[in-house]
Amino acid sequence: MNRSDPTPRVGMVSLGCPKATVDTERILTRLRAEGYEITPEYGEADLVIVNTCGFIEEAVAESLDAIGEAIQENGKVIVTGCLGARRDVILAAHPKVLAVTGPHATDEVMALVHRHLPKPHDPFVDLVPPQGVRVTPAHYAYLKISEGCNHRCTFCIIPQLRGDLVSRPIHEIMEEAEALVASGVKEILVVSQDTSAYGVDLNYRTGFWQGRPVKQRLTELAKLLGELGVWVRLHYVYPYPSVDELIPLMAEGKILPYLDIPFQHASPKILQLMKRPAATEKVLERIRKWRSICPDLTIRSTFITGFPGETEYDFELLLQFLEAAQLDRVGVFPYSPVEGAAANELPDPVPEAIREERRIRLLAFQEDISTQRLERWIGREIDVLVEEIDEEGAVARSAADAPEIDGLVYVANGAALTPGEFARVRVVDCDVHDLYAETV
Ligand code: SF4
Repeated sequence: MNRSDPTPRVGMVSLGCPKATVDTERILTRLRAEGYEITPEYGEADLVIVNTCGFIEEAVAESLDAIGEAIQENGKVIVTGCLGARRDVILAAHPKVLAVTGPHATDEVMALVHRHLPKPHDPFVDLVPPQGVRVTPAHYAYLKISEGCNHRCTFCIIPQLRGDLVSRPIHEIMEEAEALVASGVKEILVVSQDTSAYGVDLNYRTGFWQGRPVKQRLTELAKLLGELGVWVRLHYVYPYPSVDELIPLMAEGKILPYLDIPFQHASPKILQLMKRPAATEKVLERIRKWRSICPDLTIRSTFITGFPGETEYDFELLLQFLEAAQLDRVGVFPYSPVEGAAANELPDPVPEAIREERRIRLLAFQEDISTQRLERWIGREIDVLVEEIDEEGAVARSAADAPEIDGLVYVANGAALTPGEFARVRVVDCDVHDLYAETV
């Protein structure tokens, strides 16, 4: 095909009942709204969608014939509709189809179209660039995988504000992730209220990505993101048993060996008052196991001091947990009542001065642990992502440093490095939060 007009064109063959026709209309509407042209000619189309019927054998035969004709006349064919539910039948007859989806799958079909025939982008019409408007630097981006939360932590009102967990379909997340990578992003930071719960609300139903069936679950999503060739960092992960499945992916270098787990406390009594899972011993055991599989794992967490009912004994339990867990990075907040939170009704509030005093004590206690954890990098070569160049050299981040909240890697002889690019450095020193390195 040799056309001067670059507008992408899609052909559509629609078979089956009125429900299938509605699906066809939905797909055509979305295509037109996104700027694709629709053509009735196979020869003019860049790609053809065949919406099939699988009701009776004649309909199956008619659908298979239509797919065969489209492949012969055009070559690039996406199959959707009722017969799509019998993927094996289609692939056995026509192994060359680009992808197959079931019925009522407008989103999946659109994702497939975007993949095989990128959306037209007109900067004079589209005010938003393909990767969306972002406020982060060009080399890293946050990727939200769900909204809302099924927990009811007593200090938090997010479920009241945003409702229960609603996970995004996996193809939508992957489409956004691919667009980010195509726009130059080198690091994707996966966020949500509760990242490990991804897909719970979908019953982990199978979704589709690139024509492949894929379970909508965090492990599967992490694997797909790990194939994009950029850093993938997971935030707000709760230590559910399924998190164990992520550790081998980290050990193999598919995703960053980094877990941000907001433990909040370690005293069973306080965890119960917070309505958080209260199995501190098990958590310690699992951290040990994770580190035996992935020694470079960095664990970051946050804690609250002075939660209502917290005694000196509870606080001591928290310090003992920190000693045993040897976390790499720790953030601490004094308890602060949020309007509308259930915790406000709890007895025995802790005076503000003690909340703050415990926060400072906790930070001081953690300092030695954090420093010792960083010391293990000294003498090693690591990859860093360069943030900026200043008069003292390059400022970068390692796999152990999330932007804004963790430490930095200062590369004194790194003035020639490029912001937004990876570099290889040797670590020569550290302090409580940061590493000091030189280029290799
Ligand atoms: S603190 Fe996090 S896990 Fe707990 S209710 Fe709020 S959003 Fe959900």
